[in-house]
Amino acid sequence: LSTADLIEEHRICVCVRKRPLNKKELTIRDLDVITIPSKDVVMVHEPKQKVDLTRYLENQTFRFDYAFDDSTTNEIVYRFTARPLVETIFERGMATCFAYGQTGSGKTHTMGGDFSGKNQDCSKGIYALAARDVFVMLKKPCYRKLELQVYATFFEIYSGKVFDLLNGKAKLRVLEDGKQQVQVVGLHERDVKCTEDVLKLIEVGNSCRTSGQTSANAHSSRSHAVFQIILRRKGKMHGKFSLIDLAGNERGADTSSADRQTRLEGAEINKSLLALKIATISPGMTSCENTLNTLRYANRVKEL
Ligand code: ADP
Ligand code: MG
Repeated sequence: LSTADLIEEHRICVCVRKRPLNKKELTIRDLDVITIPSKDVVMVHEPKQKVDLTRYLENQTFRFDYAFDDSTTNEIVYRFTARPLVETIFERGMATCFAYGQTGSGKTHTMGGDFSGKNQDCSKGIYALAARDVFVMLKKPCYRKLELQVYATFFEIYSGKVFDLLNGKAKLRVLEDGKQQVQVVGLHERDVKCTEDVLKLIEVGNSCRTSGQTSANAHSSRSHAVFQIILRRKGKMHGKFSLIDLAGNERGADTSSADRQTRLEGAEINKSLLALKIATISPGMTSCENTLNTLRYANRVKEL
């Protein structure tokens, strides 16, 4: 296949989501430097100063397939991003949805749901919403007759190594088979019958992800989490949906860090980020540089 064929066959859709200013940003009176003037445009208004000290805003415009402002719910983001891909896997396709962005910009909130507070709720994340619609689709007469079985996997990639989040973080081997297909050897595929089964697995996997970590966020910001929904027919793969909560992209750029381990991890993350994105951004002026980085990166993906 030529590159043009690949793009034609595997259309890439790139969307950006802005989150609201959080408590910390409000406390330090961080400025909101992002506007979403229309449903596919993101503007960054970066405060600058001339040599004569007069202040001005440097405005930059980026266009995407969709841009979601800070009032958008997960359900709406889901409807325009992952929802069409649920159809794809029923039609025997492979689909992938990545969340890409700075740590704290809302990747996990979007993909997994809210794990930040005491009342953890994964039911509104894209993993769960996609699972819900998989079970709705299964009931359609045209798909019911296929007798499809649904399975889920959940694993983490940390420093180039793969860990099974549904099997006590067992370290897994990754092999490439003769057809250049990457296989994660021994990855547990859990049989799921309803959305509640999936919610339980997300909770198990997420607590497994953060267990034994002194700082949950420091760890998750350096690792990729992959949640997959797999459809099988008579044991054979019918379709597969991979939903990926990527490591924070700021580590990749931060080469000035004094910590060798962090730098190595950054290089590893950079390598593994040479993939596709979807992006989340923080609104604050203090995040402006990271935000511009994310938007430029996401913008390049769109023009592939
Ligand atoms: P990331 O995974 O990109 O590091 P998180 O998803 O953990 O970021 O989000 C950081 C914090 O911001 C969390 O407390 C989360 O609940 C909150 N947050 C993120 N996105 C939103 C949003 N769209 N609306 C409200 N709160 C959000
Ligand atoms: Mg996260």
